[in-house]
Amino acid sequence: MTYKPPNRAPGGAPPAGLAALRRANLSLVLRELRDHKSLSRAHIAEATGLHRATVSNLMAELLERRLVREVGVEHVGAVGRPRRAVALHGAHVGALGMEINVDYIAVHGTDLSGRILVERRVVHDAMGSGPDSAVRRLGLVAKEAVEAMRRAGASPAGIVVAVPGLVDVVRGVVTLAPNLYWHDLPLADQLSSLLSPLRVPVRVDNDANLAALAEYTSGVAAGTPYLVYLTGEVGVGGGIILGGELLRGADGFSGEVGHLQVDPNGAQCGCGRIGCWETKVGLAALVRAAMPEQAYGLPGMPMPDPGERVADLARGLASGDRRMTTAVAQVGEWLGLGGSILANLFNPRVIVIGGYFASLAQWLLPHAQDQLQRLVVAAPAAQCRFVASTLGFGAASRGAASMVVSDIIDDPTTIMDSSPRPVPH
Ligand SMILES: [Zn+2]
Repeated sequence: MTYKPPNRAPGGAPPAGLAALRRANLSLVLRELRDHKSLSRAHIAEATGLHRATVSNLMAELLERRLVREVGVEHVGAVGRPRRAVALHGAHVGALGMEINVDYIAVHGTDLSGRILVERRVVHDAMGSGPDSAVRRLGLVAKEAVEAMRRAGASPAGIVVAVPGLVDVVRGVVTLAPNLYWHDLPLADQLSSLLSPLRVPVRVDNDANLAALAEYTSGVAAGTPYLVYLTGEVGVGGGIILGGELLRGADGFSGEVGHLQVDPNGAQCGCGRIGCWETKVGLAALVRAAMPEQAYGLPGMPMPDPGERVADLARGLASGDRRMTTAVAQVGEWLGLGGSILANLFNPRVIVIGGYFASLAQWLLPHAQDQLQRLVVAAPAAQCRFVASTLGFGAASRGAASMVVSDIIDDPTTIMDSSPRPVPH
């Protein structure tokens, strides 16, 4: 989260210290407005501790840049004087979140206020296509999304791409994505050069971290400060929120829970090790056990849509298919076993399960919850609940878009520098 687009030449700008202070204050005001529907200047001054005159001055700049708008009056108390209120606007500023996974590319584009402008999922065999072709496809989907957002009146200020693997977020390099067969791929640079005519900065981050942020800000357990999110795809990753903050670790690589070894005599994992948790609970493992005719990696078979595979499973389970019921019970128990390791380590209140785990939650959760209760040591920690995400396959791309919004709010001057100044009358 340390990468920032380079500052532009400061021709005629205030000295660096003052500019930084102003940037921080603009950010403070925008953050306050993000957390509330609308506020008067007086309320903002009160909440931020800034002087009234400073707030008015900052607001003039934000209004001029169309990042906030006047929204009429707010009445304070029964006899209070009406005050003019402002709200976050930025309908012309876009935030594009994307996710590439084993079998799809997802897109979630919003404006600054979170209004959804583009949302789609494209079936794509990233596993079989190799990195060059996957990056090209990602570039094409990104270009289409940027164009669609511009047609809707919002120019994306940044793109964040979620990847299922280890990501060096500072350099924008995918260090290792075992299920995509990627290693040391400079994805941010490659995508930036493919999209160079569009002039939109690109960042890359881990899918589970971004999905955990989406859950924490807008999911089923939003606001729960001790929350673990699990991606339920072919691979399984974890995003860990502790005290309301994303846990990244010393090198940014925490949360690789899919590669906890749970069975030393198990199957080989995409990472090359044996018996990783995701070889027990990943979608590929469930499909192999429940409907082997649709298993991943069968030669000559077209890549089925993951949503269709999961829908087939749900239909079979609903009709009581024995092979599927047995397979899902086993996966549920392994899910609970891994969940208990996380509960013993981090003592979360909830473990939000995403991806296919959420779609099949009614069959998986009873087994998983039993197992978790049995294996967690501290009684209060054993009250940790598995809950199904309601954000669907789009959680990571949604989190990616909200990270672009956070970046803008952290440093709104990146927008102001690139947006046209109104012509003085
Ligand atoms: Zn592994």
